[in-house]
Amino acid sequence: MCSDCFYSFVIELQEDMMVQEGDILLPEDRNAVKTIWSDATVHFTISKELAHRVSEIYAALKMIADATCIRFRKHTNELNYLKIRDGIGCASYVGCRGGVQSVFFGPKCSVGNLCHEIIHALGFHHEHTRTDRDQYITVNWQSIKPKSKRNFEVKHGDTLNLPYDLNSIMHYGQYFFSVDGSPTVLPKQSGVKMGQRTHLSQLDVQRLNKLYHCGKDLLYLITGFLLDTSS
Ligand SMILES: [Zn+2]
Repeated sequence: MCSDCFYSFVIELQEDMMVQEGDILLPEDRNAVKTIWSDATVHFTISKELAHRVSEIYAALKMIADATCIRFRKHTNELNYLKIRDGIGCASYVGCRGGVQSVFFGPKCSVGNLCHEIIHALGFHHEHTRTDRDQYITVNWQSIKPKSKRNFEVKHGDTLNLPYDLNSIMHYGQYFFSVDGSPTVLPKQSGVKMGQRTHLSQLDVQRLNKLYHCGKDLLYLITGFLLDTSS
């Protein structure tokens, strides 16, 4: 059961063929939320209209399962579970909210986008809303679409004592929500690319493993690949 009822909903909207992210509909003030899935296990269903995309969905779940102790199982009679369904964009609640919980996997969403959504559902907000972000990025408020400014507001809370991560799959790219094509977020370190949606960064792996009390993150760091220590 989820013990904390603060949650929020994040819509990853599509505009101009680019998937954009971050419309938070409900109040939330943490970077990682406390509403995590018990036993690091997430049960899920896939709606019928996504039958032709099952392999992509499994690929997104595998990105997380391969690197962490988090497990995804088909829903049978569990109270809390994810329903992966079609929609106009990619969207997710943040954290486990209790009961059936939708994750939207729209036609333009990639495997990486879905992985990003599922990490929201696992309890994480966007990396660029961390309390220490101003040391690493500059937010150009005048370049952000007025209605989207709240997506750039800092969220106070638990960063799990892990460093800021410009390479996170949960970080915005520099043109997200731009009102005029100029950058909305710039890294203070030159030459860094942000906003990738292709893989979990090493810190993404550590972050997930820490929140879910996994034991694999150190091995991952040392060896660069994963060993299953549970068997
Ligand atoms: Zn997002």
